[in-house]
Amino acid sequence: MTDEHQHPTRMAYCSYCGGPRWSYILGQSSQRAEEDDSEVWFQEDRFIMQCRGCLTQSFLLKESNSELFDTEHFDGEEHEHLIKRETSFPAVAKRRKPEWFCAFAFELQMDDLENALLELYSAYEADLRILTGIAMRMCFDIAAQTLGVDADVRFVEKIAALEKDGHITPADRERIDTLVNAGNASTHRGFKPNSDDLRNLMNVLEAFIYDSIIAPHRKKKMDAEMKKMAPHVAKKPGDGVRK
Ligand SMILES: [Zn+2]
Repeated sequence: MTDEHQHPTRMAYCSYCGGPRWSYILGQSSQRAEEDDSEVWFQEDRFIMQCRGCLTQSFLLKESNSELFDTEHFDGEEHEHLIKRETSFPAVAKRRKPEWFCAFAFELQMDDLENALLELYSAYEADLRILTGIAMRMCFDIAAQTLGVDADVRFVEKIAALEKDGHITPADRERIDTLVNAGNASTHRGFKPNSDDLRNLMNVLEAFIYDSIIAPHRKKKMDAEMKKMAPHVAKKPGDGVRK
């Protein structure tokens, strides 16, 4: 398939859009090797891709060889088919950053929290589970400091201060206790959460950051906009009287 720009296209994963997208093939090369006196062969196909929507570029590697195949049985017969492994860089994201992530850099100037979260997402993507557990606790700690909590007190006191100051509810507190305990266990005892645990803990951390930092920030912006609009829509004498 070729589009109006004369680049062939195919579906490829776009790390920015977060899913498969029609993409230009900007360049490609293939390499095949065969062993002498046998039927064993290896092949690599490499592609430089560009998403047609957001124009993000990526690299795609497809690998296959004569020894890598699956066997299926149907119609009373054995059928073999080759397996093609696909690897892309940037990697297929296991978890998209939340849509509010860019607010740290562009609206909130919270560089420390943004940098810590970037390291956390990298550890999560690389399936470094112990480091992910440690990084989640670190991100919670930095977010709490951003909200004015003393950096030098124990975690239990930090969580109590967040509740006292109205940043979290008693129900939030139980979830955050578990998040911090998991981070403690990874830090001190090498606790390695499984993938379900990690996903749930990430949900708790993101919900805490959204509820305590992002939502109040957005409400403040909305209030400022409404204040500008209020004089134009204020009730005037005669409003509501049928003419
Ligand atoms: Zn894209």
